[in-house]
Formats: sequence, structure tokens, C-alpha cells
Amino acid sequence: MFSTLSDRLTSTFKNLRTKGRLSEADIDATVREIRRALLDADVAVPVVREFTASVRERALSAEVSGALNPAQQVVKIVNDELVGILGGESRSLNLAKTPPTVIMLAGLQGAGKTTLAGKLALDLKGRGHTPILVAADLQRPNAVTQLQVVGERAGVPVHAPHPGNQGAETDEVVGDPVGVARDGVATARAREHDVVIVDTAGRLGVDELLMQQAADIREAISPDEVLFVIDAMIGQDAVTTAQAFLEGVDFTGVVLSKLDGDARGGAALSVAKVTGRPILFASTGEKLTEFEAFHPDRMASRILDMGDVLTLIEQAERTFDAQEAEKMAAKVASGEDFTLADFLVQMQQMKKMGSMKKMLGMLPGMGQMRDAIENFDEREVDRIEAIINSMTPGERENPRVINGSRRARIAKGSGVRTSDVNQLLERFTQAQKMMRQMGKGGGMPGMPGMPA
Ligand code: GDP
Repeated sequence: MFSTLSDRLTSTFKNLRTKGRLSEADIDATVREIRRALLDADVAVPVVREFTASVRERALSAEVSGALNPAQQVVKIVNDELVGILGGESRSLNLAKTPPTVIMLAGLQGAGKTTLAGKLALDLKGRGHTPILVAADLQRPNAVTQLQVVGERAGVPVHAPHPGNQGAETDEVVGDPVGVARDGVATARAREHDVVIVDTAGRLGVDELLMQQAADIREAISPDEVLFVIDAMIGQDAVTTAQAFLEGVDFTGVVLSKLDGDARGGAALSVAKVTGRPILFASTGEKLTEFEAFHPDRMASRILDMGDVLTLIEQAERTFDAQEAEKMAAKVASGEDFTLADFLVQMQQMKKMGSMKKMLGMLPGMGQMRDAIENFDEREVDRIEAIINSMTPGERENPRVINGSRRARIAKGSGVRTSDVNQLLERFTQAQKMMRQMGKGGGMPGMPGMPA
């Protein structure tokens, strides 16, 4: 996400760093480059204009000329301004004082509403809530079924008394979506679900009839939050679409979807500023776990290639199985051998965190390694998993017994080359050695001993 913008801005700042003092001409040149970078990233023109004017004004002020390191000060100003257009402070979901909290989703067809419903439900469930989904998108063929599938994957119930449109696309309003939404909220209340997420219909373009329907649903269920979901890839259209929804339905917060797919991401940088509504979440993939709370400061930091370690840690906390982690720590401390079976469990835990590429991208300074990250083969993890799965339990406990012919068999069984099996076993032996050292109370090599 934002890779083009990120590259352009970091290279602009690199040029600036070679200068001790900054002249007005230097600042103007920098501001020009920033303007071009933002426009190429599809950021809306008025937003770009305001952004650059503000950066220029501050960069010319005493704030910079008096600074020990003027270039760094300019980076700080750009960072502040980015945080500003992304909405400033981060805001979390408004939960109703008396449950259920009603969340309504609105947006164009294909924006990612149904997927988001599942992501939000899974996330809330993980925090101890008891969400229910309501299928009030009766318009798009199979939208109801899709929500049911998503609900099943998230492990939450779905209220869908009406099968919805099972035929072709139509201009007629299908069924009674307002009634379904109202019943859904009543059902949630009766069954004591503390959060209701209502999925609504969208169109390919802004459409009066559907806008009216969304407004009617809003009226009928008085939601605590109306989340406007927008595809970050729609570029310059983001602003007009957002404004249409703001006028037609009004919303309390924005969700950016498909941030994974967009190298430009201008929608992200325009919508909060233009609508005055905060961005609450970012959706970063098709899997239900590919979802995160949106923090303007962390996003600015990612754009400026300063990393987002906080989000990385949060993701680890959310997906890591604490019990497994504890078992592993106890094992290492007791000096017991770390086996391939343990290794497999660790790999699976890593995989649950999501894509390696995404995780690497959140580390500071990774912009320079973008090519290496892009070339990282996610299938490597699957290959290792397949190799270990092709071994017998005995071999996993004690890989030393794996001789040449077994290596060839394992390679065949897992669809890799024998050299891949050899390489894995070699790497594993190294890891095991290191674990043994840690277990002996020596801690990590070269690090103070860890308490056992
Ligand atoms: P809706 O019409 O607004 O309900 O949109 P859907 O939830 O059906 O999403 C439309 C398509 O976008 C589906 O193929 C989803 O799998 C995909 N999608 C949704 N969110 C994301 C995301 O964050 N990243 C990517 N890459 N795809 C997404």
C-alpha cells in the first residue's frame, strides 16, 4: 500500500538531507516534488493544494530555519500534515451504552461491505462480543448467501429471513430490506447479541433509489455507527462517491478496503479530509483476519517508511496462540529438544499472522528493500509445511534418522526437490542448536541469560 507515494517522498527527503541550510528555493523544489507525488498517488486536488500550502508555510518559518537539522524538521512537518489529512486522532468503534450496538454498512457494490461484515464480526467476537450479521442487501444476486458464508467462516449467526435476489441484476427494489434490517435488530435484542452488523445494498454507481433505501434503513434502525466502505483503488472517484454518500445517507466513519492492492491509495488520503469523518478501519486482503484498526499516525509513519511496529505487535498478539507460545517457552527452558513438530507449530502460528510480505513491510526502512520483499515467495512457508507433513511422527521428533532414501521419498511426497529437504534439515539443525543454548540458561547467544 502507498508504495509509489512512499518511494517518491523518501527520495525527495534523501535529496534534502545532503543540504545543511535550506533556502526558499530548496523548499519550493521540495514542495513541488511532494505535490507531484501526491497527485500521482490520486490524492484529490483540493487536498493536495491545502497540504502543500501548509507544508510550505511551516517549512519557511522559524520552525525550520532555527532547527539543528532542517531536513529532518521538514520530514516532521510532512508527517504532521499527513496525520492531519488522515484524520488526526484515531477513533475506535462507538459502542452503545445499552446494547445492542447497531452498525450499518454502506457503500458501492463491490466496495467490500460483505467481507468487512465478516471481518468486523470476527474481530469483535475475539474481544468477547457476541455479534450477529443482518443480510439487508437483497439486491445483488447471491449477496445473502455470501453473507451467510462469511458468517459461517467468522463463526457468527446471520439473520436472513429473505433469500434475496437469486436471479439477475435488476433495477427494481427486491424484497423489503428496511423490514429485514428492522427485524434483524429486534432479533439481536431478543437473543441478547450485543452487536448487530447490518449489510446493505450498493450499486455500481451512485444511484438515487438505493441511496434512498440506505437512508430509509438508517432511519428505521437508528444505528450507533454508519460505516461507509470505500475501495481504495477507485482513485479520483473516491471523493465524489464519498460526498454522495455523505449527502444521501450520512455516515459516522469510513472503512478503507483493498488497501493491499493499491500502490497509490489516494482515496485513503482524501476521504477523511474531504468528508470530515474519521477512518476507523483498513481492510487489507480477502481473508477475514486481514483487517486492522486505522491509526492516522501509524499510517503516516508507514508512508514515510518509518515502519508501523505497533500494528505488527498487535497482530501478533491477536493471532498468536498464547497456550502454544507458553508450551514452547517451557520446553526451551527445560532443555528439552526442539523438534520439527514444534517447528511446524511455529510456522503455522506465523502463517496465521498473515502474509510475510505484509509483515516485513511494516518494519522501518523496508522501503529500500521493496524489491526483495516483493520477490519473497509466500509459498516457501507452504513448502516447508508440506515437507514436515510428509515425515513420520518419529522422524519429526528425531530427524537424524532420516537417511538419503527417506529424504528422496519425503521430497517426492511433498512435491519438492531433495535439495529442499536437505536445506530444511540443515536449517533446522542450526535452529535446534541455538535453542539448546538458550535452554541451558545461556540465553540467546551473546545476550544476557534469560530467567528459566
Ligand atoms: P460488497 O459488494 O460491498 O459487499 O463487496 P464484497 O465484500 O463482496 O467484496 C467485493 C470483492 O472484493 C470480493 O471479491 C472480495 O473478496 C474482495 N475484497 C473485499 N475486501 C478486500 C480487501 O481488503 N482486499 C482485497 N484484495 N480484496 C477484497
